[in-house]
Amino acid sequence: MVRTNILQTPIDYLKGVGPSRADLLRKELGIHTYQDLINLFPNRYLDRTRYYKINELQRNNAEVQVVGKVVHLKTVEQKNRKRLVATFVDETGQMELVWFRAHKWIRETVKINKPYVIFGKTNWYNGFSMAHPEMELLEEHQRSLQTGMQPVYPSTEKLTNKGITNRVVNKLLQQLFRETQGKFFETLSPDLLEELKLMPKSEALINIHFPKNGELLAKAQYRLKFEELFYIQLQLIAKNLSNKAKIKGLPFEQVGSNFNTFFHHHLPFSLTGAQKRVLKEIRNDMGSKAQMNRLLQGDVGSGKTIVALMSMLLAIDNNYQACLVAPTEILAQQHFNGLSELLGDMDINIDLLTGSTSRSKRKEIHEQLENGSLHILVGTHAILEDKVRFNNLGLAVIDEQHRFGVAQRSKLWHKNTTPPHILVMTATPIPRTLAMSLYGDLDISVIDELPPGRKPIRTVHRYDANRLKVFRFIRDEIAKGRQVYVVYPLIEESEKLDYKDLMDGYASIEREFPKPNYQISIVHGRMKAEDKDYEMDRFVRGETQIMVATTVIEVGVNVPNASVMVIESAERFGLSQLHQLRGRVGRGAEQSFCILMTGHKLSNESKTRLETMCATNDGFEIAEVDLKLRGPGDLMGTQQSGVLNLKIADIVKDNEILKAARYYAIRTMKEDPSLSMDKNKRVLYTFGQMAKHKNIWTYIS
Ligand code: ADP
Ligand code: MG
Repeated sequence: MVRTNILQTPIDYLKGVGPSRADLLRKELGIHTYQDLINLFPNRYLDRTRYYKINELQRNNAEVQVVGKVVHLKTVEQKNRKRLVATFVDETGQMELVWFRAHKWIRETVKINKPYVIFGKTNWYNGFSMAHPEMELLEEHQRSLQTGMQPVYPSTEKLTNKGITNRVVNKLLQQLFRETQGKFFETLSPDLLEELKLMPKSEALINIHFPKNGELLAKAQYRLKFEELFYIQLQLIAKNLSNKAKIKGLPFEQVGSNFNTFFHHHLPFSLTGAQKRVLKEIRNDMGSKAQMNRLLQGDVGSGKTIVALMSMLLAIDNNYQACLVAPTEILAQQHFNGLSELLGDMDINIDLLTGSTSRSKRKEIHEQLENGSLHILVGTHAILEDKVRFNNLGLAVIDEQHRFGVAQRSKLWHKNTTPPHILVMTATPIPRTLAMSLYGDLDISVIDELPPGRKPIRTVHRYDANRLKVFRFIRDEIAKGRQVYVVYPLIEESEKLDYKDLMDGYASIEREFPKPNYQISIVHGRMKAEDKDYEMDRFVRGETQIMVATTVIEVGVNVPNASVMVIESAERFGLSQLHQLRGRVGRGAEQSFCILMTGHKLSNESKTRLETMCATNDGFEIAEVDLKLRGPGDLMGTQQSGVLNLKIADIVKDNEILKAARYYAIRTMKEDPSLSMDKNKRVLYTFGQMAKHKNIWTYIS
């Protein structure tokens, strides 16, 4: 069916494209083949379904098209500047067309008294005028495909300057459709097309480039967006399934004495319904014969740690070791302390490995890891080093995923001959749509319930001018026995100005809260690790009432008695960072507060961030707003944005289409994992081509 593939023809061969244009198209738009050109989707459309009469024009600078004739052309000179002015008429009135450049060319080409269709933006000054209109003879216009909504293609300054205007791109596409007769390989299965009433591929491509009206355009857009997202999902799901099929896992067959002892005698509270559900999902995974690759999502304070610990106990019950990797030293230390405390007198050997672990201690850890007597190792990236070898690693938990690269994750895979189960925990929620696209190859568990009895944190926005009031409030809270965080932005730990702000802030807080009544801790990135630990410890033990810090305390730190979080220059923090910082309070039984301090000058985006923080405590909701404000690439960092290099779909706006695409991709894969059923022939073919060419999926029949 599939002929030699015309669409793979180099763009140079298209009529109207010479070597120099081909070069520009390649360099500026990445268009190498016919295929690439046809997948150059418009950014937006101008409505050219309507023809205006001159007496219908409004004084609103709209883009309109008018049918009429040029009856007169003259050059006007004013202040040494020449312009060419045409009088353009229809049966209802007259207007002026104006050119400031290309006079000669216009004079030579414009035909007097012939019907034209003109298109452009209107101006009004003692009558209507249009500068540099697009002009086409009416008879040509009627023959051209271009009559409905006019696409506007992505372009660059260089392209426009070299004469590859939107119109030229359009003409090239018309030529391409002529050469290929507009017949393109259908990429979706007939039953999907039928069930979802999707527009066939060829029709969709014609309508995306030459839509006759808004309705057809919308259908074409839906179809192409669906297709794009469907194949991304299909790839992710196939990868997940093939991992499961191919990657043998360590079977954890039993729930043993460690898990049970902990559950019955050490668990300090009852698990929430969500925690139980998630634990069951993890247990099922690890009990199956395949390797677990699971993402655990939960809001700040939702209790992910206990889930991690109980999963690790399952590993130990099955004679495997476990490790927990955290992004910072402070956090690793906290996890180590917290887990040790939870385990109490249980016969579990747990230890801590970080960059600052002493040589002798390190040696001891290595030995115990290799002879299997160490059950749980908590630590930082130090765990990933090749020289850290386990006797039998069964489960690796990674806390706070966003600071970890995929490469680092895979290092853990190689810590055992059969790869250990992997549990990735996120620091803050990721919007559903993004999680589906970025982690579609991981199974996802969500803790969507906070432990009972938490009082929602009250968040307010205060201006710097009201600082004295804020200090008074802090004093009252301290008098009640509470502790307070004051956080300064130090985005780049090396930035001198930020550092000065922090130190000035610290000095003013020392003045307001003098010794010996008050004790203040300070923690920032320029301090030595042991000094940080010392200061942190004093705060954890309640010896200091105020912790002045930078974002080093952002992640995971747990001091339940701290009930006030003051964030200085709050406008400089991103939403997820603000939410993460706020999550440091509200961990005890007391009412907690978050105070966002800013100056008076705020951008609209900053205002939205602050308002969102004051309006909701829900991390999933905040993540959605964040995604809308910042866009997907920014949110996840560049190394992961590759998946999001979408041609037509928009991961934020096309949320609903994404859900549908994922649903049908899962259904297709469940029903026919090898895509060998007759109805999936086109899907299999397209899928294979994609793997070969990466993101190429239009084929001619
Ligand atoms: P995060 O999901 O942010 O990592 P943590 O695991 O640090 O949250 O848990 C936050 C706090 O909630 C901890 O003090 C923990 O002991 C407590 N906690 C966790 N689960 C429960 C529960 N089911 N009931 C009561 N408190 C809980
Ligand atoms: Mg945590």
